[in-house]
Amino acid sequence: MTLRIAVIGSGPAAFFAADHLMHRDGLDITVDILERLPVPYGLVRFGVAPDHQKIKSVIKGFAKTAAHERVRFFGNVDVGRTVKLADLQRHYHAVIFATGAQTDRHLGIPGEDLMGSHPATEFVAWYNGHPDFQHCTFDLSGKRVAVVGVGNVAVDIARVLCRTQAELAATDITDAALEAIMASGIEEVAMLGRRGPAEAAFTNPEVRELGELPGADIIVRADEVADEPLTPPDRTTAKKLEILREFAQRAPEGKPKRLAIRFCVSPEALIGDETGHVRAMRVMRNRLELKAGRIVAVPTGQVEEMPVDLVFRSVGYHGVAIADLPFDERSGTVPNHKGRVKGMVGCYVAGWIKRGPSGVIGTNKADASETVEAVCADAPTLPTPPAPDPAAALATLQAACGQLVTWQDWERLDAAEIAAGSPLGRPRVKVVRVADMLGSGAPSAP
Ligand code: NAP
Repeated sequence: MTLRIAVIGSGPAAFFAADHLMHRDGLDITVDILERLPVPYGLVRFGVAPDHQKIKSVIKGFAKTAAHERVRFFGNVDVGRTVKLADLQRHYHAVIFATGAQTDRHLGIPGEDLMGSHPATEFVAWYNGHPDFQHCTFDLSGKRVAVVGVGNVAVDIARVLCRTQAELAATDITDAALEAIMASGIEEVAMLGRRGPAEAAFTNPEVRELGELPGADIIVRADEVADEPLTPPDRTTAKKLEILREFAQRAPEGKPKRLAIRFCVSPEALIGDETGHVRAMRVMRNRLELKAGRIVAVPTGQVEEMPVDLVFRSVGYHGVAIADLPFDERSGTVPNHKGRVKGMVGCYVAGWIKRGPSGVIGTNKADASETVEAVCADAPTLPTPPAPDPAAALATLQAACGQLVTWQDWERLDAAEIAAGSPLGRPRVKVVRVADMLGSGAPSAP
């Protein structure tokens, strides 16, 4: 018997799951990867920063998986909207949802929705050419930008904003974003951590890179990185402190921009001008306390007001409920046990929708492996779908979605994007409109 599996999404968790499934001995498995957009790779295409092309090289392995004779890719398939779970269950023994965490978490402070205050997720999706976010506008004319949070997404945004024209022009950032950032009046970007340097969520290679930018001086206050951590630091944390303390000793070299990393400060409110545009941020200084094994920020009552013209709230992604599956709103995940969706036979999850938005791309390999283990262990007991024939599944998808994008279609678009970028010394010029993705495959200006 052939086990027919649908994987929903085509980001890292989806591709790692498909790859694990292709490497199972003793089971005859075929996989259909169903992606909402006409292009694959999810957060690798739309989340990984444009100046981090090395990280994107993981797609080489994903492309091999997609080319496997027992794997099919269909883009432009919106599961939950155009295709229902019940439709899929007519054709597949198991459905693995790897849909990621598509929205942002909120700060819950006054002024959060003022003009000029944006979720980081939107800015990242915009500069990376996500078709759903090309209508977004960001007023980059001001001098001061605050990025709330000190995770790797905050680092990405701060770094991209501080890159020089030459640096950004050699990436696959959209032309609209490149022009806007280059025309911007930005002089200072400040990342704000509510806890201390030892608790910062960014990883060491990412923060180290902030000290190597040709176009921006790194600014760290010595007093904000001087205290010893409340719990003994592991090697990685000790290294992080060393990097930050070295930054604190540097004298500014007079580079065009300044990139500041602040610690123990929490935004309390955003303050707007008469037009409703953000102009300042009131921040509370915190001290750190160890409570129930966790280091927490405790307000000191000392408040400072920072002038800001633009705010990016980079405090983590949040999952979005999937039609017909249970959902835990608080964690933004589908309740599951080792990838098995609770109470739903034949339904599984992998990646951020399973465990929450944490870890690097590679983390999804082990995560997807656990889910695939569960699928394969359950295989003998999974009900046989009424119409398991691959042609029947294809007919259902075609009837529901109209135009499907196959892997060969994507390869043509991929080649066209790369060809458009080559004479410009860019990895690719991304097509950013769904209509263009579905059309000729020729990249057009955003
Ligand atoms: P993250 O790593 O979870 O960081 C979120 C940051 O927001 C933390 O500094 C957190 O501080 C802070 N925060 C949360 N709530 C806050 C609040 N109410 N007020 C102030 N600060 C608040 O999330 P992320 O940066 O979105 O990254 C998501 C995942 O993608 C991470 O695993 C990250 O490593 C990964 N990623 C990796 C790369 C890379 O490898 N280059 C690039 C981008 C993203 P607390 O710690 O105090 O909660």
